[in-house]
Amino acid sequence: MTWESRLIDWFKANQRVMPWRSNPQPYYVWVSEMMLQQTQVDTVIPYFNRFITRFPTVKSLAEAPLDDVLKLWEGLGYYSRARNLHKAAGIVVQGHKSILPSDYDELQTLPGLGPYCAAAITSIAFGHPVPVVDGNVLRVFTRFWGIFENITKQTTRKMLFNRLISSVESVDPSDFNQGIMELGALVCTPRNPTCDSCPLQSDCVAYATGHILKLPVKDKAKPVPHYNISVGVVWLNNKVLIGKRKEDQMLGGLWEFPGGKHEEGEEFSDTCVREIKEETGLAIEIEKQYCIVKHAYSHFKITLHAFKCQVLGGELEAKSASELKWVSLDDVDTYAFPKANKVVLEHLSKDSTLLF
Ligand code: SF4
Repeated sequence: MTWESRLIDWFKANQRVMPWRSNPQPYYVWVSEMMLQQTQVDTVIPYFNRFITRFPTVKSLAEAPLDDVLKLWEGLGYYSRARNLHKAAGIVVQGHKSILPSDYDELQTLPGLGPYCAAAITSIAFGHPVPVVDGNVLRVFTRFWGIFENITKQTTRKMLFNRLISSVESVDPSDFNQGIMELGALVCTPRNPTCDSCPLQSDCVAYATGHILKLPVKDKAKPVPHYNISVGVVWLNNKVLIGKRKEDQMLGGLWEFPGGKHEEGEEFSDTCVREIKEETGLAIEIEKQYCIVKHAYSHFKITLHAFKCQVLGGELEAKSASELKWVSLDDVDTYAFPKANKVVLEHLSKDSTLLF
């Protein structure tokens, strides 16, 4: 029995239940693959179910306002995925009669679909023999074949892609690709691979040579920068001020409390006063420190200092947000916020003194 066949048998016996697996129609596979980038399966499942209930077809997604899509994506992070999915849905409806293309290269012309996602969709939804190459696949095969090339290099990814073509062509492409990804997630894990339950063990070079934890080879992680951010929960007539981030920014299209980066030597409260003046034109005074929230993004970390503020004067003008709005606490939950702001909101609704 070939290792490819052993992998597929293992996958059939051990695969986890996922809603897009029981009904792998192209739209479902597409949505799931967009959600699964940088995100664990268990986190994705409830988001996927809510998303498909609200947008059951590509047409319903294309016709929905982006704000609705972002609201359903709230908390999942990497919001460019949601913006790209929404934009691509419009293109599929307009340019492809609402039918997702099946071809690997054509899929990559859609926003948000790189080689990995395109390979996953074309193989899982359409059965085309294109190998997927993601972090799990790179880990499994650098170990399996004993490859010490740096996996952050394009040349290494390309070499593995080419080497996998004959394998994916020899069996069911959907089961093969999903099998490797599942093996990487469940068995050939980064730190504690369970080689004794691995269907590839008898041919695995890293297992035979004792090099498992030396692979894969990759660049050392760079130190993650940290920023202090001050934001103001600015109150006027029992409403709070929120701003919408511009679509070309990180977290674009989401709403947030106005504020910005702390500068060397400033008090965090002074940062809040300065940033709100610069971003909204309003002069404010700080009433109290409200809460401190720590949050990690993929490439940096923040500590967010939130203050309760009252308006002293000035003309409201959206200087860096695409839009500013005064909203009541009853309505604020209908807007999509990034995670750190969401934590501020949770504190806000508990702090009844803020209502007066
Ligand atoms: Fe990974 Fe161990 Fe399987 Fe080799 S035998 S592919 S190292 S789990």
